[in-house]
Amino acid sequence: MKTAFILSATLAVHAAIVAHEKDIESLDRAIGDGDHYTNIKRGSEAVASMYNTLLPLPPDEVLSQIGSKLLSSIGGASGPLFASFFMGMAKFNKENHPKMTDLNANLETAAAFAYGVQTMMMRGKANVGEKTMLDVLVPVSTTFTIAAAHGKTAADICREVKNAADEGLAYTRDLIATKGRAAGLGERAIGHLDPGAKSCQVIIHVVCDLILKK
Ligand code: ADP
Ligand code: MG
Repeated sequence: MKTAFILSATLAVHAAIVAHEKDIESLDRAIGDGDHYTNIKRGSEAVASMYNTLLPLPPDEVLSQIGSKLLSSIGGASGPLFASFFMGMAKFNKENHPKMTDLNANLETAAAFAYGVQTMMMRGKANVGEKTMLDVLVPVSTTFTIAAAHGKTAADICREVKNAADEGLAYTRDLIATKGRAAGLGERAIGHLDPGAKSCQVIIHVVCDLILKK
């Protein structure tokens, strides 16, 4: 993972979140408290505005500072969860990057992503099937790891990962929530997509599209 790529991704993510305001906001209004769009917009804006400060830094430091900024700027349930994802990726990069020069770059990024997702799972004490963003992030991580292990090209990995994100998001529609605010709704949550899963699907798409354009 390179600093320049992480930073262009932060700009693209912020633009994509803003472009999907209606979708994201309506979902949290339906099964949450309606603030997920403002939370994630505030976080992505704060991170995008760090572009020049982060540019000279190594990737693990960039990821760690993004995590801290998300923690202080998002709030809600999702702030500490997104923060833990970036902190996990930062930790993995710092500890493993020097030892992993013989590995293919896609496999290394997949491993860092998986570590980030696991850190988030530990933080939120949640797993797949609970109608959260993990229903997108876990299958994306698995798909990424398997495709990278098969030596697929970055473009092929991106196409598979985007499909996994779409399927994960769709899967949340018929679930009952057992974590987060929607957990109190019981069966009334059925029929609605999870807002955090939607914002993660948007983020995964835009980052993959950035790679596909290269
Ligand atoms: P809040 O729930 O505090 O209003 P947000 O609206 O910003 O925070 O985020 C809600 C999203 O957070 C949910 O749609 C869900 O995807 C995600 N979420 C909530 N709890 C958890 C958890 N324990 N693990 C993973 N994701 C979670
Ligand atoms: Mg909310």
